[in-house]
Amino acid sequence: MTRRVILITGGNGGLGQAIARNFLQESKDNFVWLGVRSRNERVAALLSVFPDCCDCVQLDVTDPSAWQSAISKIISTSGRLDVLVNNAGGHHDSLLATMPPEAWHKVIAANLDSVFHGCQAVMPTMISQRNGRIVNIASLSALLAPAGQTNYAAAKAGVIAMTQSLSKEVARIGITVNSVCPGYIDTDAFLDLSDEERKATQSRVPMRRFGRPEEVAAAVRFLACPEASYITGSVLKVDGGIL
Ligand code: NDP
Repeated sequence: MTRRVILITGGNGGLGQAIARNFLQESKDNFVWLGVRSRNERVAALLSVFPDCCDCVQLDVTDPSAWQSAISKIISTSGRLDVLVNNAGGHHDSLLATMPPEAWHKVIAANLDSVFHGCQAVMPTMISQRNGRIVNIASLSALLAPAGQTNYAAAKAGVIAMTQSLSKEVARIGITVNSVCPGYIDTDAFLDLSDEERKATQSRVPMRRFGRPEEVAAAVRFLACPEASYITGSVLKVDGGIL
């Protein structure tokens, strides 16, 4: 069987790591590339556990030339690319009235421009394979936009719209494009919450808990699996029932 080659951006982060582990534990035939700006100790640890099925590639997702170099390296090493998970991103919350313009542009670049560059960079390979899976990590903030996140909510809503538009462009050539909307997931993104803030946040979730990164990873793996071949343009919430 041919190896399935998977690129996950934001490989240093909580969700990126969980998604990678999920694919690596699924099958020895999965080869995972972690896209990172610079590798941290979590990436080093994962590479030491899965030395034959995992590697990392330098990738600032806001830089189109970095995408070109990363995809060239993956194709010259692995020979193909079957799955792209656009996971890198982050937020910089502020009320619009006082939002520094840099906070707007940086968040749009990291969460939305990045997905455009990534999808464009993998297109020639996936089109020539006539097969591919793209999974874009959006956010519940795209569907239920909270105050203080005009930049992040707009970027993630853009990811969903881009996903749906692109899914129609490539449906006939065997490429699916889907998005996942995590709610509150327990990663570094919530490290700075006090115990009180954590409790208040959890009380807004019908399941009364944060999601685990593995629970998002399972949804990503499903949308990326060969059997999910008739699912495209979808928006899958993983939010403990908030919406
Ligand atoms: P983390 O902060 O743990 O990880 C985010 C990752 O994105 C980091 O590895 C970071 O890299 C990377 N990243 C950010 N900007 C760039 C860039 N320009 N180039 C390359 N890498 C970049 O957050 P999560 O793992 O929780 O988040 C992953 C995704 O899930 C994000 O898109 C986030 O918006 C989304 N999400 C998360 C939710 C949650 O509750 N955790 C809820 C909804 C959506 P570096 O290590 O170099 O900083």
